[in-house]
Amino acid sequence: MYVRVARVAERTVSVGEERRVVYDGLVADETGVIALSAWTDFNLRSGETLEITGGYLRAFRGITQLVLDERATVRRVERPGLPEPSTILNSPPISMARLEESGGGPSASVEGLVVGLLPPSGLVYRCPECRRGLQGEHCRIHGTVKGIADLRARIVLDDGTGAVTINAGRSETERLWGVTLDGVLGQLGAKPDPSIWEGELLDAVLGRRLRVRGAASVDDFGVTIQPETIDAADIDLESAAERLAPRLGGERP
Ligand SMILES: [Zn+2]
Repeated sequence: MYVRVARVAERTVSVGEERRVVYDGLVADETGVIALSAWTDFNLRSGETLEITGGYLRAFRGITQLVLDERATVRRVERPGLPEPSTILNSPPISMARLEESGGGPSASVEGLVVGLLPPSGLVYRCPECRRGLQGEHCRIHGTVKGIADLRARIVLDDGTGAVTINAGRSETERLWGVTLDGVLGQLGAKPDPSIWEGELLDAVLGRRLRVRGAASVDDFGVTIQPETIDAADIDLESAAERLAPRLGGERP
């Protein structure tokens, strides 16, 4: 198959006891976009066109991925007609109802208002072994452990047709909140209760309009997006004025 690489990024994961590097990304052909997961370093770069043989498809957390392992071969080719990375990464937002009907996708874009947070949000503690969230000091795999502090936000975004959950990690949460993990930890003496921090995070994000792009999956709880980008989608005052102007001038009932 021939694909154009839209984006690729290196990530380290735990596989059992082992730490491995995986190259995650998005690729596209004439028919659409698919998530890529390469377990071998093919030195992939955004914008390249590839001829791939020996890859396979698998579903991971509700998203279909093209997996490349050491049995796959990748060859750089010239082949016109495949979509540009900018086209793949800048598709306009779609309605949340349509996203849910479509079953999600590797690069979905939505826009809506923040209407709430789901627990756990704010200051959380993770297992040092597996990064799972702890219940108190308990990891369901590793038992009682000393947790590592982290920030996250499970943001409920609503666009009037439906709602999705945005699973924001530490860096996105810090950026949206304007508060860093170090800032929180520095004030833990005064505010030891995580529910205080969850409340402050909610105050900071509630009612904001966001545009979010990322991998969207659908399950019994609805649509969840693992965000790659979260941007403030402030109301465009100029176009709002243009829309309103005809209704404000001259015409009287
Ligand atoms: Zn654990």
